[in-house]
Amino acid sequence: MKNKERYKVTVYCNQCGERYILRGNRLKTGEIETGFKQCICNNESKFHIFTERLG
Ligand SMILES: [Zn+2]
Repeated sequence: MKNKERYKVTVYCNQCGERYILRGNRLKTGEIETGFKQCICNNESKFHIFTERLG
């Protein structure tokens, strides 16, 4: 039985308006890991992030 919780993560860049739709896994620490690092405009910190539980 799998214990991983999967999430759909939508990231909006506040700097240029780009949108990313990612898959995320919930870590034991409670964080959602997506591997997302930065936007194409080099913004690394100014985002709106929405997470949605899958299945
Ligand atoms: Zn951007």
